[in-house]
Amino acid sequence: MANEIREIPLIGLKNKAVLPCVKAQLDIGRNMSLKAASINSDNIIFFSAQLDAGAADYTPASVQTIGTVAKISTITPLTRNSIRIEVEGLYRAEIIGSRETPECYYVTVRKFPYERDGDDDIVEEAFERYLREQVHEFVSYSTKMDKTMLDDIINVPDREKFVFRIAGKLKLSVDKQQNILNAKKLIDVYRLTSDYLEYESKIENIEKKIAASVKQSIDKNQKEYYLREQLKAIHTELGDDAEERDVLEEQIKSKQMPEKIEEKTLKELSRMSRMSPTSPDYNVLRGYIDWMCDLPWNEYTQDTKKLSDAVAVLNNDHYGLEKVKERITEYLAVLKLTDGLNAPILCLVGPPGVGKTSIAQSVARALGRKFVRMSLGGVKDESEIRGHRKTYVGAMPGRIINALKNAGSNNPVFLLDEIDKLSSDMRGDPASALLEVLDPAQNSTFRDRYIEVPYDLSKVMFITTANSLDTIPSPLRDRMEIISIEGYTLEEKREIAKRYLIPKRLKANGLDKGDISFSDGAIEEIISGYTMEAGVRSLERQIDAVCRKAAVKKASGKAKKIKLNEANVEKYLGSRRYEKQSGSETDEVGAATGLAWTAVGGTTLTIEVSAMHGKGDVQLTGKLGDVMKESARAAISYIRSRSEIYGIDGEAFETTDIHVHVPEGATPKDGPSAGITMATAILSAFTGKPVRHDVAMTGEITLRGKVLPIGGLKEKALAAYRVGIKDVIIPEDNEKDLEDIPDDVKNKLNFIPVNTVDTVFKNAIIGL
Ligand code: ADP
Repeated sequence: MANEIREIPLIGLKNKAVLPCVKAQLDIGRNMSLKAASINSDNIIFFSAQLDAGAADYTPASVQTIGTVAKISTITPLTRNSIRIEVEGLYRAEIIGSRETPECYYVTVRKFPYERDGDDDIVEEAFERYLREQVHEFVSYSTKMDKTMLDDIINVPDREKFVFRIAGKLKLSVDKQQNILNAKKLIDVYRLTSDYLEYESKIENIEKKIAASVKQSIDKNQKEYYLREQLKAIHTELGDDAEERDVLEEQIKSKQMPEKIEEKTLKELSRMSRMSPTSPDYNVLRGYIDWMCDLPWNEYTQDTKKLSDAVAVLNNDHYGLEKVKERITEYLAVLKLTDGLNAPILCLVGPPGVGKTSIAQSVARALGRKFVRMSLGGVKDESEIRGHRKTYVGAMPGRIINALKNAGSNNPVFLLDEIDKLSSDMRGDPASALLEVLDPAQNSTFRDRYIEVPYDLSKVMFITTANSLDTIPSPLRDRMEIISIEGYTLEEKREIAKRYLIPKRLKANGLDKGDISFSDGAIEEIISGYTMEAGVRSLERQIDAVCRKAAVKKASGKAKKIKLNEANVEKYLGSRRYEKQSGSETDEVGAATGLAWTAVGGTTLTIEVSAMHGKGDVQLTGKLGDVMKESARAAISYIRSRSEIYGIDGEAFETTDIHVHVPEGATPKDGPSAGITMATAILSAFTGKPVRHDVAMTGEITLRGKVLPIGGLKEKALAAYRVGIKDVIIPEDNEKDLEDIPDDVKNKLNFIPVNTVDTVFKNAIIGL
C-alpha cells in the first residue's frame, strides 16, 4: 500500500483529530459531515482537524493537510440530526487534491510515510523500551488510567501501533495530536508521546496534591465548625453568653492606658475576635491582651507626706548604719523637693548580710510604696530584661515588666539585686538594656519586645545592690549614687541580734519571750564560734536553728523556758565551727599573717615561705594573680638588695630555691596589698627568725622598700579583730581611714602606721 492514493469523503473535526491505530468515538451533527458519513465508500473516511476550530463549516482548504484515513465501524443515531460513530484510524495521509459534490467534499489523499535513516531502528527500539517503562510507572499510580490499558498496549508488536495506542489513551489537545500526526519520523512520534506522557503525569501529581489539601481544609473547617457549635451550646447551657470580646474591651478601657497604647490594644483585640478560638494566633493575642490589662498603667501609690515619718521607719528597722541612714534621708528629702526628677539611682555596696535588701525594703515602707525585687545574678541574656517578641513560641515579657505586673503599681521601689553579677555573652548585652532602664532620659519610654509599646518607668524608684564595685560596667556605675555598707563588729552584731534578729525569729517560729532567752554571752558565742562573716546572715540562720529546736519542744508540750548562755549553746548548735583565734598560736619562721579584702568582707591570709637548697628558683603557688606574683618578685628583689643589712649571705640567693604559698588554693587571690606580708615571710625564711603570730599587716611594696596605701581598711581591721590579732601594720597613708573604724575595734587593736618595709620587719620579725 506504499504511497497509496485514493479519493474518499472528508469530515472536518472541531477540536480533535483521529489518530492512526486508535479507536475513537465521534458525535457528528453538521449536515456536510452526516452526508459524508453515510456515503457508501466502504465506510472509509478521511478525518482532518479544522484549522479554525470555531468555524461552522469546513472545506478541504480549511482543514489540516495531514489527517487520518479511518474506517467507521458502527453508527448509532443520537437525535434526529446527529449520530455517534465509532471509527478506527488506519493510517495517516495528506490531501493532494479535492472535489466538491452536492453531498460533500471528496479529497484525494496519499499515505504519508515516515522518513527513515539507517540507525533509526536502534533508536526506535530504545524509545520503545523507555516508553514501556514510562507507561508502567504511570499506570501504577495514576487514578485516571485504566489498568486494563496495559493489556491493550503492551502486547502490540507493531511499533507504530504501540506508540499511537499510548497517545490515544492520553487526553491530548488537538494541537498535540496534530503535532504527532505531522511528525516526519516515527522516533519523533515516540519523542512527542513520551513528553506528553511526562506532562500528563506531572499534571496528575499536582492535581492529587490540590485534591489532598482541599480535602484537608474541608475536614478542618468541618471540625472547627463542629467545635464552635459545641462551645456555643456549652456557653448557652452555662448561661454565660456574654461575649468575650465585650468583656475584654471593657477591661482595656477601664485601665486608663495612654491613648495610643489603648488604641493598639483595642486593635489587637479586634484582630483576635476575627480569629477562630482554636487557632494558635488567637491564643497569642489573648495572652498579649491579658498582659496589657494586668500591667499597672495608671495605678500608683501616694508617697508618705512627712519626711520625719519616713525617717522614723528607717531608724526603727535598723540598728546602727548611721551614715547610711543619713545619706538615705538626704536622698528622700531631695526626692520630695524635686518631685523625683532626675534623682540618681541608689547603689548599696557591701558584703552579704549587712542589710542592703532590708534597707531597700525599709525605704519602700518609709515612702508607702510597693516593693519588688529582681536578682541580676547570672543574667546573661538581654531578652531576660527586654522579653521576646510575641511571635516567638511561648514568648513572655522581660523581667522588668514582669516585676511591675507583680507590684501592681507603676511607682514601686524596685530593687535590682547583685548588679555586679551581670554577665554578658553573644546573646546581647544585658548591661546596655539595664542602662536604658536606669537612665531617666530614656526610661519613660522603655521598650519591652513583647508588649511592643513604650512603658513609662520614670516613676519607679530603682535601688541597686552589689558586693563589689569592680565588676559593675562603668557606664552603669556612673549613673548611680554609691552608698557603702561595711561589715559589723561583734558588739554591733550582738545588738542587731538582740533587737532585731531574735524578735524576728521568735515570731517566725511561733514563740514568745517566755519560751526562750539569749544571754549576751550566748549571742557572742554564736557569733564567734558558729559564724565567720561580715554581715549577720548566718547569725540569723543560727538563731533560727535554736528557735526551731525551742519550737519543737514547745509543740511537744515540754514547755520549759530555754535559757541560752555561753555554756549551753553547744547543746543546741553542736560543737563550735570556728575556734576563737583562727590566726596562728605560735610564732613561726616563714609564715606571716596578711589582711585581704574580698567581696564577702575582710579576711586574714597566712603567707608561707620555705627556703631550700637549690639554684635560685622562685615558685609561687596558691592560685595567685599576676599582680600578686609581681609583688612577690619585688619583695625578693628588695630583700636581696638589703641582704647585707639583714645578715644574709649574698650567695644564698643563687643557691636557694624559694617557694611562696598562700593556702586555700582553690580561692583565686590577687592585688598588691599582700606585698609587705610576702616580704616579711620571705625575710623570715632566709634569716630563720620567726614572725610574731599576733601581728597582721597590709600594704603594697615598691622595689625601693616603700609602703603604699591600700583599700578596704575597715573590713580588714574587722577581720583582724575577729581573729584576735593585737597589732595591725598599715601604710602611713591609710591613717586617715582609721576614723571610719568603730571604737570597739580601735580600742582592741593597735594600729602601727609605717612607710618603709624595714619598719614592718622591725615590728613583725622577732630578734631582727
Ligand atoms: P544583704 O541584702 O546585704 O545581703 P539582708 O538585707 O538580706 O542583707 O540582711 C540579712 C538580715 O540581716 C535581714 O534579716 C536584715 O533585716 C538583717 N539586718 C542586717 N543589718 C541589719 C541592721 N543594721 N539592723 C537590723 N537588722 C539587720
